[in-house]
Amino acid sequence: VVRYLNIRKSFGDIEVLKGIDLDIAPGEKVALIGPSGSGKTTLGRLLMTLEEPTSGTIEVNGESLWHMKSGGRQVRANEKHLHQMRSSIGMVFQHFNLFPHMTVLRNVTEAPIRVLGLAKEEARERAVLMLRKVGLEEKLDAYPAQLSGGQKQRVAIARALVMRPKVMVFDEVTSALDPELVGEVLEVIKEIASEGEMAMLLITHEMEFARDVADRVVFAADGRIVEEGTPKEVFEHPQSERLQAFLRRFR
Ligand code: ATP
Repeated sequence: VVRYLNIRKSFGDIEVLKGIDLDIAPGEKVALIGPSGSGKTTLGRLLMTLEEPTSGTIEVNGESLWHMKSGGRQVRANEKHLHQMRSSIGMVFQHFNLFPHMTVLRNVTEAPIRVLGLAKEEARERAVLMLRKVGLEEKLDAYPAQLSGGQKQRVAIARALVMRPKVMVFDEVTSALDPELVGEVLEVIKEIASEGEMAMLLITHEMEFARDVADRVVFAADGRIVEEGTPKEVFEHPQSERLQAFLRRFR
C-alpha cells in the first residue's frame, strides 16, 4: 500500500533523511526503531503529508503524494486526489492531540462527519464500536481533561480507526505516558494488529512490543535504513555494529 521512494528531507542545512526506500505491503506490520533524531517521526509525518520531502516521493496505492515540478520543487498531488489518498492513512501521535473542548464521542465522530460526510447517527454508531474496541465505551461523554493519559491515547486510536484507514502510523504513542499506563495502550494496538487487515507503521522504543507485533523490523540511524528483517533476525542476529550497539542499550 505504501512505497517510500528515495526520500530525502532537509531542515535548513541538516539532512535528516538521506535516501529512504521502504515498502509496506497491505496488512503488513512494520516496526521502525532507531536512536533519537534518526528521522523516524519525520518519516511518519511525510506519509501524513504533514511534511514535504526535499526529493523523492511516497506512493500510496500506486499513486504519488507529490509531483516534481520544473525547477525541482515538489508539489502536492491535486487536492481532491490527495484528500482521497490521505483518507486511507491514519496517524496516532505521541501527544494525543485530542480536541479539549469536545467530548470523547465528538472527538471520534468529528472527522467521519466532516471529512467522510457520514450522517451523525452513522458516525455515532461507528464511533461507539471503535470506543468499545479500545475499552472506553463508558467514557463517551467525558472530556479529555477527565481522562488518564492511557485513556486519552486510546481515544486517539479510536479516532484514527473510525476513518477505516488502510495504513496506520503509530508514532511513539507510549513515550509520553506514565510507565504503568503503557501496557494498556500497547495491548489495544496488539489487538488491532491481530485483526490483520490494516497495515501499520509502528515507530517505537518498546523493543518487546516491536518483536511481538511486527512482521518486519526496520532499523534507521542517521537518516538511513541500516538494517531490516524479521523480528528474529533483527533482535537475535543483528548484523551491523550500529544495530548491535543500539540493542545493547535495551538489555
Ligand atoms: P525521536 O525518537 O527522538 O522522536 P526521531 O527519530 O523521530 O527522533 P525526528 O523527530 O524525525 O527523529 O527528527 C529528526 C531530526 O530532524 C531531529 O534532529 C530534529 O531536531 C529535526 N527536525 C524535525 N522536525 C524539524 C523541523 N520542523 N524543523 C527543524 N528540524 C526538525
